[in-house]
Amino acid sequence: MKITSVDIFECNTPNPLLDPLFVRVNTDAGISGFGEIGLAYGKSKYGGLGQARDLAQLMIGWDPMNNEGIWEMFKRNTFWGQGGQCGGIVFSAAVSALDIAVWDIKGKVLGVPCYQLLGGKTNERIRAYASQLQFDWDEVHRNISDPKDYAEAVKKAMAQGYTAVKVDPVCVKPDGVYAREPKPDPNWRTKGALSGEVINLAYERVKAMREAGGPNLDIILELHAFTDTSTAIRLGQKLEELDIYYMEEPTDPTNAECMREIREKVNIPVASGERISSRWGFREFLEKRALQVIQPDLCVAGGFTEVKKICDMANVYDAGVQIHVCGGPIATAATLQLEAAIPNFLIHELHEGALKKEIRELCKYDHMPEEGSYIVPDLPGIGNELTEKAMREAVSMTIK
Ligand code: MG
Repeated sequence: MKITSVDIFECNTPNPLLDPLFVRVNTDAGISGFGEIGLAYGKSKYGGLGQARDLAQLMIGWDPMNNEGIWEMFKRNTFWGQGGQCGGIVFSAAVSALDIAVWDIKGKVLGVPCYQLLGGKTNERIRAYASQLQFDWDEVHRNISDPKDYAEAVKKAMAQGYTAVKVDPVCVKPDGVYAREPKPDPNWRTKGALSGEVINLAYERVKAMREAGGPNLDIILELHAFTDTSTAIRLGQKLEELDIYYMEEPTDPTNAECMREIREKVNIPVASGERISSRWGFREFLEKRALQVIQPDLCVAGGFTEVKKICDMANVYDAGVQIHVCGGPIATAATLQLEAAIPNFLIHELHEGALKKEIRELCKYDHMPEEGSYIVPDLPGIGNELTEKAMREAVSMTIK
């Protein structure tokens, strides 16, 4: 069996947050596999599409069963693949999409879900958390400001069966405007050192969530890498009494020493990883015991071939895994396969963007949690595919 062509899809949905990018790898056996480039947000869309195009050319003629060989070829035979963390985030996101597609083909050829190829099902149920509650938890994306609305968002998520939530309590200003884009507001600084006023409002929001959710709700504090080390320590120490499950990206995600300093001074586990890729990227964070929870994105950090190894490496350092998921349904499907297999799986991220109709309709199957947990699908491969309609309506290119 040989890879004969690769399709790359730019699906321009009306979603304000997510603009997912996909690949389909095709073979001479008539079997195709799907993958997602994990750059549905941020400003690297065309970088990701172009990088996938460059790499797709190299895999034509390869046997798709040889995922390890293809991955090594991307890393070792491209010059840039050996720079930084497997070439950097954009390079690695393109590798990830093509790798996931190859695993999808592999599963379909063998007639088994990918989790069987990754070691079998260690986790029967995949507990999920409701992510990014500062944008509410509903069909409509909206910024919420009043602590009472944060409490209401928790109640909505818990009514659907979720027992864990995540929130960035800093990024929405008191007037309900998102504070970071397009221009930062000098009167409501959310980056670097925060004022007492910002920290106190963040505390009030999380306190309202704790009171609404009760003592058993797991609350994850998201800081989006905006706070500096001193402020993360100040904010973390203030929020300790609210019993935080873990704090995410409390400072610059490239700085293992700063992460470790925060962990040493705050009694809350530290999580990071959505902007780190490959084993080489995670190594320092694990060796320094800077992270207690790693959050690699399967569609950024290197696909199944690499992220399974990162998870196993983290297991040696007693770090749990919460895969970062912020994209389309292909990312979700592939992530569930990995989460089913790894013994150090912690919890699944369900982003509020993934609740939206225009994102869910891109794929054939709508895998969603029931009572706060997913059942991992037993379909061959990753267990989802783009619809014909989504592929037809996308801006696409084919590499032969
Ligand atoms: Mg995050």
